[in-house]
Amino acid sequence: MKKVTAIDSLITINHYKNLLESEGIPAFIRNEHLASIVGEMPFQEVWPQLWVRNDLDYDRAVQLIDQQEVVDESPSEPWCCENCGTDNEGQFAACWKCGAQH
Ligand SMILES: [Zn+2]
Repeated sequence: MKKVTAIDSLITINHYKNLLESEGIPAFIRNEHLASIVGEMPFQEVWPQLWVRNDLDYDRAVQLIDQQEVVDESPSEPWCCENCGTDNEGQFAACWKCGAQH
């Protein structure tokens, strides 16, 4: 077994798990129910984690998730423009005000 990634979002983790399973890679989630006890422990320790059952699937799993992050057009986190300091909606790749790339 090998940990592929840890993300502060159960929705995203579940999405990735489904993605891997649809590609025939057995995957499971750890810390699914721990997110609510954040406080005492370091964040990374309590984030939901995505694991693959077979170490041999690890490279392919990472690759699939990397591709997903590029392709996925679903709403993402709002971001702040480094150039002019304007807050932007997550779906915009460039600042609406000054046009700087995110
Ligand atoms: Zn800007």
